[in-house]
Amino acid sequence: TVSIVLFTSDLRLHDQPALRAALDATDAVVPLFVRDDAVAEAGFAAPNRAAFLADCLTDLDHSLRERGGRLVIRSGDLVEEVCRVVTEADADEVHLAEGVSAFARRREERLREALESEGRRLFVHEGVTTALPPGAVTPASSDHFAVFTPYFRKWSEQHLRHPLGAPRTVRVPDGIGSEKVPARGDVRGVSAGLAAGGESEGRDRLTAWLRRDAGAYEDQHDDLAGDATSRLSPHLHFGTLSAAELVHRARRKEGAGPAAFVRQLCWRDFHHQVLAARPDASHADYRAREDHWRTGRDAEQETEAWREGRTGYPIVDAAMRQLAHEGWMHNRGRLLAASFLSKTLYVDWRTGADHFLSLLVDGDIANNQMNWQWVAGTGTDTRPHRVLNPVRQAHRYDPDGAYVRRWVPELAGVEGKAVHEPWTLEGFDRAGIDYPEPVVGLSEGLDRFRRARGRD
Ligand code: FAD
Repeated sequence: TVSIVLFTSDLRLHDQPALRAALDATDAVVPLFVRDDAVAEAGFAAPNRAAFLADCLTDLDHSLRERGGRLVIRSGDLVEEVCRVVTEADADEVHLAEGVSAFARRREERLREALESEGRRLFVHEGVTTALPPGAVTPASSDHFAVFTPYFRKWSEQHLRHPLGAPRTVRVPDGIGSEKVPARGDVRGVSAGLAAGGESEGRDRLTAWLRRDAGAYEDQHDDLAGDATSRLSPHLHFGTLSAAELVHRARRKEGAGPAAFVRQLCWRDFHHQVLAARPDASHADYRAREDHWRTGRDAEQETEAWREGRTGYPIVDAAMRQLAHEGWMHNRGRLLAASFLSKTLYVDWRTGADHFLSLLVDGDIANNQMNWQWVAGTGTDTRPHRVLNPVRQAHRYDPDGAYVRRWVPELAGVEGKAVHEPWTLEGFDRAGIDYPEPVVGLSEGLDRFRRARGRD
């Protein structure tokens, strides 16, 4: 007997319930990945994610080969390709991790119908993409939590599935054709500093980070230059690491650092459960705006300056340049850059979210859109009118200016606190620096925001 394991956002062998169930059920298994045309058509296959994905598939194929198997890769319409492989392998069943996005769920339904019409069965495995599946904890009066803290409290009380080890052997039937495994080098337009992908890389990073850095996470996660966060987000996005395993491993360590890390992992589940309950929040405001709120200004020139990292606010520009160079940005940078666009410039959050998605290697709809909405004040923030002051934040989270000097080389020679306020430099000190004046004054931005929100 043969079964198919369809890999989607779970490109790993450890803690892989779909693979484990398939191996238990049948003599041979076809590990399948389909490069779904619909993902590219939706504009979601940005170069940085395509390159990281190529690493993940290469590593997955390698790990399967070490166990006597291999990865089968196809492209096209996912449902049609799975049905084709099912016929070729004469498989009885297909195993798949439950999708948490609306897109994945629609696709799952189509797949179920297509397989059942041919007398084959689809098994969907829950709690693989997130630590707890959306809907696993709900408040008494609603289908999802709209506020993080009570969600976190309930989430923390839940029993998490115990993570599974990787299988030792995987027997794949002969004669199933596969495309060549894509290589990162085949993808154009990739950020020069993009991190490497793949389960092996993710596991090494996780182990090293938990051993070396997790202890200091609580104190240092907001220090922009210290770069002390785990950088595991792309691995969570592609599922090269399991969220449940991360929670288990962090909980085994004592102290405030690992506990704070688990809390951040809960944010990921939180946003997923919001979006699962309100799929329209991927593009529509989660909270209906008060009538007098305008959707945002049309400020193409200022927006372009923001995209290019030349707003004249060094901390914002540093963050935007890190994004362009690495396809990743520090969380504090994301908060500052998003607040600057959506509040100081008062540009619609969707414009910023689209730009982030075109570059972020960890870019996913739930975390990106819901964080953008949170910052813009249209989402789940309980203080939607707060505005982050980029200068004050810069002094606080980049006190020595090292982050700015790293990413904005024009300012590398500026000494002291002026690195965060180059407009205060005068005469000779200013003359030699090819760096723009601020696109907008902070008080002007604040006034406009307050007027727009009727807070005058
Ligand atoms: P760590 O600090 O090590 O945290 C560990 C893990 O917890 C992260 O890998 C991530 O999975 C999760 N996490 C941490 N903070 C958040 C958060 N605020 N929301 C959800 N999950 C969180 N994260 C994405 O994974 N994809 C995105 O597309 C994305 N877009 C964002 C857009 C904006 C405007 C903002 C403010 C935040 C966004 N985030 C996104 C959340 C957060 O910035 C990143 O998850 C984090 O910076 C990743 O770095 P890390 O792995 O080193 O995080």
